[in-house]
Amino acid sequence: MEGSAASKMTMIQGEVVVMKKNVLDFKDVMASVLDRVHELLGRRVTLQLVSSVQPDPGNERRGRLGKAAHLANWVKIKSAVTAEETAFAVAFEWDESMGTPSAFVIKNHHRSQFFLKSLTLRDVPGASGSIHFVCNSWIYPSHRYGYDRVFFSNQAYLPNEMPELLKEIREEELMNLRGNGKGERKEWDRVYDYDVFNDLGSPDKVQQSFLDQTLRDSFGILLESRSAWRADEEFGREMIAGLNPLVIRRLQEFPPLSKLDPDVYGNQHSSIREDDVEPNMNGLTIDEALKQNKLYVLDYHDSLMPYLRRMNSTGAKLYATRTVLLLKDDGILMPLAIELSLPHPQGEKYGAVSKIFTPAAKGVEASIWQLAKAYVAINDSGFHQLISHWLHTHATMEPFIISANRQLSVIHPIYKLLHPHFRDTMQINALARHILINADGVLERTVFPGKYSMEWSSSLYRNWVFTDQALPADLLKRGVAVLDPSCDGGVRLLIEDYPYAVDGLEIWSAIETWVTEYCSYYYKTDKTIQTDIELQSWWSELRNVGHGDKKHEPWWPKMQSRSELIQTCSIIIWIASALHATVNFGQYPYAGFLPNRPTVSRRFMPESGTKEYEELKKDPDVAYLKTITPQLQTLLGISIIEVLSMHSTDELYLGQRESPNWTADDEVLAMSRRFTERLEQIENNIVRRNNIKSLKNRLGPVKMPYTLLYPNTSDYTREGGMTGKGIPNSISV
Ligand code: FE
Repeated sequence: MEGSAASKMTMIQGEVVVMKKNVLDFKDVMASVLDRVHELLGRRVTLQLVSSVQPDPGNERRGRLGKAAHLANWVKIKSAVTAEETAFAVAFEWDESMGTPSAFVIKNHHRSQFFLKSLTLRDVPGASGSIHFVCNSWIYPSHRYGYDRVFFSNQAYLPNEMPELLKEIREEELMNLRGNGKGERKEWDRVYDYDVFNDLGSPDKVQQSFLDQTLRDSFGILLESRSAWRADEEFGREMIAGLNPLVIRRLQEFPPLSKLDPDVYGNQHSSIREDDVEPNMNGLTIDEALKQNKLYVLDYHDSLMPYLRRMNSTGAKLYATRTVLLLKDDGILMPLAIELSLPHPQGEKYGAVSKIFTPAAKGVEASIWQLAKAYVAINDSGFHQLISHWLHTHATMEPFIISANRQLSVIHPIYKLLHPHFRDTMQINALARHILINADGVLERTVFPGKYSMEWSSSLYRNWVFTDQALPADLLKRGVAVLDPSCDGGVRLLIEDYPYAVDGLEIWSAIETWVTEYCSYYYKTDKTIQTDIELQSWWSELRNVGHGDKKHEPWWPKMQSRSELIQTCSIIIWIASALHATVNFGQYPYAGFLPNRPTVSRRFMPESGTKEYEELKKDPDVAYLKTITPQLQTLLGISIIEVLSMHSTDELYLGQRESPNWTADDEVLAMSRRFTERLEQIENNIVRRNNIKSLKNRLGPVKMPYTLLYPNTSDYTREGGMTGKGIPNSISV
């Protein structure tokens, strides 16, 4: 058809879908749908198809625009349109010599914006089937933009494979999204840009005293009726199947060593000795247990000790903790000793002042042991919320999203691959900066680091390594797995019944397979990676600007080979989906009963001979409650985690896509279906494992099956709510 002088006019029929709920938002929520629908009619919205084979007479480098078409009558379409969507017919007069259209321009001459979902063209000359344009964008009145709003069809193109006459339009669109870095952003602006969040407040000012309320009224009954959470077995299980199963590591030296600088902090090594732990090791010696990979540690000592003096100056009574555990033959992790440490009263350089506590089942010793476990749970709950959750998922993902939107065109195959995993993350992070992590916000009021929350979190960002976020790499680094190519993810677990890691490795490997197939389809050689200018710009900006504080780190993938692209995309998808689901959706189920996971402590461990010690002897529950998070903080904290643990009704789970027409490549759609099928198999595997009695860590004494990595791919009911399962595509809550 190209080059043919003969022009033959034809009519191309299409449908434009807009969101009904957004049509309703138009001006007045009380107005009827039909009124709003009519408002969109009347020739005030125009669409023009763009030719990819015939140049524009006014600008030879761009495709020629077809004749303007208008939204015609409102149509009801049987398939593919849900109740929230409204469709309009549209008819384009098209010169066949202009080829198959693969972009269109839309202009809105109304005074209000509307949400454009898609355009579908039917019976296009020269095309084998329908042509889909997936838009999902607000269209503001045209005068708001200094350019035309343009949308491309769902055919993916690497930058150098883009039809010549559309290249300039593609580049211009990216320039519009990058903006000029100046001025104030308005709601119709579509600019993605970076900014620094630095709302640390004034942490060194005297903090308002902790609210001194007892929890007795709220929890005193509960404490007696529910005792399973107190079991040592449950305490160990939550380190591998709880809210934060990401910190426990294998002990490879005894006693545990500190990496803090001895010139600054003195001797910070653990003071746990053989005598403390061997009585509970079923006849094993320390050496034997180390050799047989049976000793593990949950170690918060080094991350907290440098902050402890300042955190405790605000009224908190915190310890830095280490917990040593034994992996028993039945797969259960039993705590052997807990070390509670404080900075030396005469100064940092004198080292830590530590006390060791060991399990006890009776008398005041049992109450003391219970308190020792609470101090560990407090460390773990703060680390969970600020580091594992906020820092390692929400915060570190954001630069990937901003740089992708600035540097990768929407029709770039890697943008198409990653886009579902970016959904709503910027919005939830903006909200979090407003009310959760801001100075004096909810987190500072409810977790132990208080005013030092963000400072502590920023300092631990120094330890964050992108490539270690891959699950197999993380497990190897923590020494809980060894290399084994015959296993999922290429690693074999040393804690065999490690629910998070077992389910996680299956998910990881499904993601990796999908990403490998997808990337190998678009990139046949390493050279194609190196010459992809958008991909290289994305990666360079991510490293140098987005994660600029880490630009000199040697571990960044260089993005020169297919394996580096596959590794990078697999990690991004893993963090946004499974890693976030791991730390997010169990918050209410696990931490909603606060005595199980207190968030602050108001008293140190009582010393023999004090009145607190006598109280602990007489009424251990009262003493316990007087030590942990007070009531008002508890109510605030729990109401937040309740909201954060909810799935929305329009949640999209791993393997699901917003539109079945997200790509035009049939082979890719087949790969995507295989990914979904693998995830459905994993769902069955998880259900099966949760029913195997010999896997003691799947349910634990609290009889709560581990479902946080149950993908929920096969659930299309959109129930939402507090389900305690499901891996959404993105960090959206
Ligand atoms: Fe979250």
